[in-house]
Amino acid sequence: GPAHIVIVGGGVGGATAAKYLKLFDPTLRVTVIEKSPVYVRPYGSSEVLNQHARMEDLNVSYDALRSRYGVEFVFDTVTDFDPQARTVSTAGRQKIGYDRLIVAPGIQLMYGAYAGYSEQVANTSVPSGWIPGAQTALLARQLQGMREGGTFVLAAPPNPYRCPPGPYERAALMTEWFMKHNPRAKVILVDPKDSFVTDETMMLGWNRLYNFNLPEDYAKRMSAQVEIKQHATPGMMSWVRGKDGGRTLKIDAKKMTIETEAEVIKADVINVVPPMKAGQIAITLGLADSSGWCPVDRRTFASTLQANVHVIGDASIADAMPKSGFSANTQAKVVARAIIEELAGRPVPEPLWENTCYALAGKDYGLFVADVFRLVDGKIARTNGKERYLPLNATPAQIKLGARYQQAWLRTFTQDCFS
Ligand code: FAD
Repeated sequence: GPAHIVIVGGGVGGATAAKYLKLFDPTLRVTVIEKSPVYVRPYGSSEVLNQHARMEDLNVSYDALRSRYGVEFVFDTVTDFDPQARTVSTAGRQKIGYDRLIVAPGIQLMYGAYAGYSEQVANTSVPSGWIPGAQTALLARQLQGMREGGTFVLAAPPNPYRCPPGPYERAALMTEWFMKHNPRAKVILVDPKDSFVTDETMMLGWNRLYNFNLPEDYAKRMSAQVEIKQHATPGMMSWVRGKDGGRTLKIDAKKMTIETEAEVIKADVINVVPPMKAGQIAITLGLADSSGWCPVDRRTFASTLQANVHVIGDASIADAMPKSGFSANTQAKVVARAIIEELAGRPVPEPLWENTCYALAGKDYGLFVADVFRLVDGKIARTNGKERYLPLNATPAQIKLGARYQQAWLRTFTQDCFS
């Protein structure tokens, strides 16, 4: 019979791989094993917090992949595999055979990384919501119900993590929301890092929209390209970097305090984006190394630790490619092509990957980082030049267009992955 490709995880990476395998060769058998009968998309999920979207808007159906492309679905949780017999087993006691396995389970959050923090605390009082679901809804209720003049603290994660501009976009969208609904509120971003991707264009947006005062070193550097105005009365938002003691040490959910290297902050709402690693099933299957992520042969995303298995998306080690939906989608297309060629006994073509992360500093203030990647000495390297970002001297029209790109991307990207 035809080769059977089994995919663990029907998120961005898994769904895209399933669709493109069937597009390239409709005679292949492709089965996705996924925990949840409806995908809840993480990208765009911060827009539930500022009431730009509802929880239901995050739901994505698998119907089109089934009816249009003939992808088979098993809604169950993968628990183990037998690499010799080439079978995976599930919590529902199913055993499914494969010729090739693609593992795309996304991330798990390391709630235990901070003293006082745990999944239990996240579910009940100090949510994360970096994997969307009930914690996202809890955080939305807390933020929208925060007392007048209250303090919101967002703890950004250390590298590497899912969606590099994401914590900064979330803080910005909430600042914009508070300006309207809770104008004496405070938003404090605490961060173990000293920089982040899109930091200059993002903070320029904060500076213009929320009277955020740029750190002196940034202001100095950026003023070569754009006029920087610092504000006599700084706005509600602040960013405490790693070198200023921004690293989180401890959460006290009862007292609603967060302790960083610099200080103990009394807050009204705390959102912790904890450190992360590959989804648990990747670790159970022996696909991850001591970094917590999965090493792969970059050309095919074949695991270097287990035969006949590929790992794509956030769980994989992909060098210069960020852990983004866009990355997972292009990795999925490259791996689908590689599997088709290998099964046919043909050489695997030279891969090319892309990523664009669109982000908002406000609902009409868009920005981006856009890159093209190639294989260089066995690693994935960025090959475009210095011009990766919205220029600092972009016009108001370009900035507004950036926000429209972001909203259009949410729609067309979901279509490319899931329908
Ligand atoms: P996921 O999409 O998380 O899919 C993993 C799937 O595997 C899940 O459906 C899960 O249920 C399933 N699964 C896990 N374990 C098992 C198991 N044992 N058995 C069965 N099923 C299992 N990316 C962008 O490109 N642009 C953006 O603007 C953007 N914004 C973001 C904003 C936020 C707030 C967040 C949190 C993320 C954002 N992202 C963005 C990142 C993007 O969502 C992720 O990088 C992307 O979803 C990763 O795809 P994946 O396939 O690796 O994992």
